[in-house]
Amino acid sequence: MKKLNKALLMLVVLMTVSTSTVATAAITTSHAGHGGVDPGAVSGQYREADIARMINNKIIAKTGTFDATDNSAVSVNDNLSKIVRNVKLRSSNGSDWNISNHLNSASPQATGVEVFYYGGDLVAKAKAEQISAAISRTLGIPNRGAKDGSGLYVIRNTPGHSLLIEWSFISNPNDMIKLLGNMDQAVNEVIKLFGYGVTEPTVPTAPTKVNMQRATIKNLSPHSASVLKTRFIQEFGPQGKNIVSEEDITINYRDGGSSAIVMVNNVSEGVANWLRSIWTIQYVNGEKLIDDSSVYVEPTIDPVYDVEFKGLNLNDARNIRNELRRDFGSAGVRYMQNHEFIVDGSGQVVIKNISYPNARELVRQFQDDYAINRKLLPVDNIQGVKH
Ligand SMILES: [Zn+2]
Repeated sequence: MKKLNKALLMLVVLMTVSTSTVATAAITTSHAGHGGVDPGAVSGQYREADIARMINNKIIAKTGTFDATDNSAVSVNDNLSKIVRNVKLRSSNGSDWNISNHLNSASPQATGVEVFYYGGDLVAKAKAEQISAAISRTLGIPNRGAKDGSGLYVIRNTPGHSLLIEWSFISNPNDMIKLLGNMDQAVNEVIKLFGYGVTEPTVPTAPTKVNMQRATIKNLSPHSASVLKTRFIQEFGPQGKNIVSEEDITINYRDGGSSAIVMVNNVSEGVANWLRSIWTIQYVNGEKLIDDSSVYVEPTIDPVYDVEFKGLNLNDARNIRNELRRDFGSAGVRYMQNHEFIVDGSGQVVIKNISYPNARELVRQFQDDYAINRKLLPVDNIQGVKH
């Protein structure tokens, strides 16, 4: 049961077209085209539901529009009817815009983007053509254009202008490389067509499980270790070459304090090897302070941290946890597993198992986002806590 009969629709369309060339229309709802038990198309490591959700999450984050995604379906049909139900929670007006995000699937050679609209809805057709062209241009994949989607359940059963975007082919590895590598830009181009300005989010530093190394000098006297530590802070710290923070240059004492180790922690493998070679030249061959075997590189084995948000009400805590999962968990950049974001009984949000440098970076970012900008809690209530 769609909207108006076609003759009336055409009249409305013609009236609207004549005045809408410069007008912009916000997106009323957007959703991922599959969810719950319905994964959509599956190809290799990719599930359509996951990729569509990544796209949809970006649209929601950038526009603040209503998310009509369904996560609870017990069948494909259940998913479709729940999506329609969700769309109707916000959309009842013929001028609304409702977006459904999908990926196409066919042979591995099939490629490109296409956008479905309700047949006869010329306003939607024009927008579909613009969207398809914009995504094609941004991703560098063929433009298959606007297509009549009157037969598609969600388009047929939702109010307003409903568009179903097949962003690219999940069955085509090249399409997927282009989509995953340029998703933000493509989403930006689409939402601009609805009048949204685009502000770029800050790129998060990859938390945890990164291949950090440390360059180490062992068998030093405590005095030599302390001299080297001071030197390294000046040379490699923020006042010098700025390749490592001051806290990352540390001393460990051994043998009851008679021997010491200096470490430059949390640097890339390249930097660690570079440090070893310059130290060998200077301290092994030059000053003969230590022997060759005392200078080495190994993976950083940091204490593990949790990042905690304290003193929230339970509702804010759950919302924050969901946002974090959306951005960093399986629906987002996948830096962490969803179960590593926890709301405990007192309403505290905890992100488990973060390496020290990443915990430090996240705390800084979260303090900006949640405490300073959104004022949800005091700055000091966001902290990294050692295990
Ligand atoms: Zn689909």
